[in-house]
Amino acid sequence: MELVEESPYRFRIDRHDPMRVPGVVFASRSLLPDAGEDRSLEQVANVATLPGIVDASYAMPDVHWGYGFPIGGVAATDVANGGVVSPGGVGFDISCGVRLLAADLDRDGLRPRLDALMDGLGEATPRGMGRGAVWHLSDRAELDAVLRGGSRYAVERGFGVERDLHRCEDAGAVGDADPARVSERAIERGARQVGSLGSGNHFLEVQAVEEVYDDTAATAFGLRPGQVCVMIHCGSRGLGHQICTDYVRKMEQVMARHGIEVPDRQLACAPVTSAEGRAYLGAMAAAANYARANRQLLADAARKVFARVTGSRLDLVYDISHNLAKIETHGVDGERRALCVHRKGATRALPPGHDDLPDDLRDVGQPVLIPGSMGTGSYVLTGVPGAPAFASTCHGAGRVQSRKQAVRSERGLDPRAQLAARDIAVRGASRRGLAEEMPAAYKDVSAVVAAAEGAGLCRKVARLVPLGVVKG
Ligand code: 5GP
Ligand code: MN
Ligand code: MN
Repeated sequence: MELVEESPYRFRIDRHDPMRVPGVVFASRSLLPDAGEDRSLEQVANVATLPGIVDASYAMPDVHWGYGFPIGGVAATDVANGGVVSPGGVGFDISCGVRLLAADLDRDGLRPRLDALMDGLGEATPRGMGRGAVWHLSDRAELDAVLRGGSRYAVERGFGVERDLHRCEDAGAVGDADPARVSERAIERGARQVGSLGSGNHFLEVQAVEEVYDDTAATAFGLRPGQVCVMIHCGSRGLGHQICTDYVRKMEQVMARHGIEVPDRQLACAPVTSAEGRAYLGAMAAAANYARANRQLLADAARKVFARVTGSRLDLVYDISHNLAKIETHGVDGERRALCVHRKGATRALPPGHDDLPDDLRDVGQPVLIPGSMGTGSYVLTGVPGAPAFASTCHGAGRVQSRKQAVRSERGLDPRAQLAARDIAVRGASRRGLAEEMPAAYKDVSAVVAAAEGAGLCRKVARLVPLGVVKG
């Protein structure tokens, strides 16, 4: 894949047939994926062939190989001009995302109670592939309420406070969710998992604010140096996975009828305005609400443990997804157009002044939550005016080793002991599960964030370090 270096943090894949637009990769030279090991840049070029795609097929600095679309990819299509929606551009874990809560407690105050806190959080957080969950739904009607109401429904039922919703993307619930478009199989898989982490890469982490780069933004977000925080990363479990599976299959069947050809079957898609496109978006929104309710319930469980063990409160900083397609208005060639913006392993990053921000964040921009790894650190960023890629940035450090490779490179080492040596308490996860998630499996999150900032996608607000982690 030929890359043209446009600037130190921006590379171009020139348009060649059948690409409709160029590819743009935001990264530093050293972060660029190794073409021999990771074919994600080919995927960036493949995405550029989608009908209706505008501007460019974008990759964030944490880009790596994914199903059809790369993880760390952003692509927008023009709804009124044949633009398509593709389930592979959202991913299997629909609305997987991150929620950050800030405690009225400092790390020094927590130290004597950290072990007890981690024990409590470990017990209160259902995790792994199993079926345990915070919530046991009474019937299908209640699941439908979750699919329509997301975090809003969870708060209505007493699992949180009204203020939480002001600090959630979409005020806690995506509109236009259509539970009737969700298959019975998806419902079955999701019914007993509302309020559960899931496996592997998902986690609930106790962190401390290590460094603040922007006092004004940090203060508006409710963050200060030394403060204890909780970061929750999880998504829509089996329900979202099944919806993605169902609609990839459905779109594969109808693509030819819509006159669409793609270079990779995993890019299966349909026009946004077609029956299949609308059905997918309705089901996707339902899964997004499920994911948000999921994070709301886990946050509520964590709050109860915090109150019991430390006597302190947890206030929501923000909740944002990194696997979603959204219909948004953006300027294209000097015109305001409705675009279907796919962000897969990429985070929306609204700039200061944006209408969709709550009043208390209007002047500073949206909190962007970037997990790094359980052994290193994580970041809080914010959006900047005039950014490229439809106000999007990275979503994490991004994998450099497959799970298998990571396990191989940890052979003979004890991941739990390595983390304990760094004073990081771990609950849950098998030895293999931990080995898959060790820092070496991921890129250097500080380098990723520096590249994203250097590329003009976002700005650093704070860096967080791990104190303890409950792993899925
Ligand atoms: P993904 O959504 O792609 O599964 O994961 C997002 C990001 O989370 C990864 O790219 C990685 O940087 C980060 N991550 C994975 N596990 C952990 C963890 O245990 N703690 C923290 N802080 N970050 C993690
Ligand atoms: Mn996920
Ligand atoms: Mn995720």
